[in-house]
Amino acid sequence: MPSFAASLLDILFPPTCVLCGAAGVNGRDLCAGCAADLPDNRHACLRCAAPFADAMPAGMLCGRCQRFPPPFTRCLAAFRYESAVPSLVVGAKFSGRLNLARLLGQCLGAAVNERGLTLPEALIPVPLHPDRLRERGYNQALEIARVLGHELGIAVDAKTCARILATPPQTGLTGRARRRNLRGAFALTRPAHWKHVAIVDDVMTTGTTVAELTQVLIKAGVGQVEVWAVARTS
Ligand SMILES: [Zn+2]
Ligand SMILES: [Zn+2]
Repeated sequence: MPSFAASLLDILFPPTCVLCGAAGVNGRDLCAGCAADLPDNRHACLRCAAPFADAMPAGMLCGRCQRFPPPFTRCLAAFRYESAVPSLVVGAKFSGRLNLARLLGQCLGAAVNERGLTLPEALIPVPLHPDRLRERGYNQALEIARVLGHELGIAVDAKTCARILATPPQTGLTGRARRRNLRGAFALTRPAHWKHVAIVDDVMTTGTTVAELTQVLIKAGVGQVEVWAVARTS
C-alpha cells in the first residue's frame, strides 16, 4: 500500500510521462504507451546481456562469452540502448534530471522483479572519480541504485569501492586499449564483507568497466558478482 506521504505527493505532483506529457502509470513518470514502446532486452546473452537477433535461440551465451567468459556471473539489462532510451539515460547523466534517474531505477527494478532472480545482499553503483563527481554534482549510477535498493529492499553500498584513476572516456578505444585504460581504476576503501552483490550502472557497452570492478570485488573475497544495467548497447 502506498504511504500517505507518497499518495499526497502523487496528488500534488501527479506522475507525468517524461516522453509525451500524458499521465504516468504505476506511480512512474511514464505512460503505458511509451512504456510499451521502450525496447526491452529480454532476448539477450545470459551472461553479458548482449542483445540477440530475433533468429537467435533463447537461453544461450553469445560467442564472445563462450570464448572469453567475463568475471561476473550474470548481467541483466532492462533495455536495449536504442529508440527513446539514450535520451533518458543521457538526461539522467548530464542534465541533472534526477526524476529521470528515478524512472530508470524503477524500470530496472521492474525488470529484476519480472525475472525472479535471487537477490544480492548489496548493490554497488559504479563509482565516479571525485573530479568527475565535482563536475557533475552527483553519480547517476548511485541515484539509480538508491531507487532500486528502495524498490527491492536491498542495501546500497557506495562506500566500499572508489574510482582512484580519472580515466579518459572509453569511446573509440579497442577492447585491449579499454582494458589498459581502466587497469587500476578502482580500489576498495574498506573490506568488502558481502558474499553476493550486483554492480549497478546506467549503460553497459563492452562491459570492460564492470569487468574491472568485478575483478576488484572478487579479489576482495566477494563470491558472486553480477551486473544490473539500465541499458545495453549491441
Ligand atoms: Zn508517454
Ligand atoms: Zn555474452
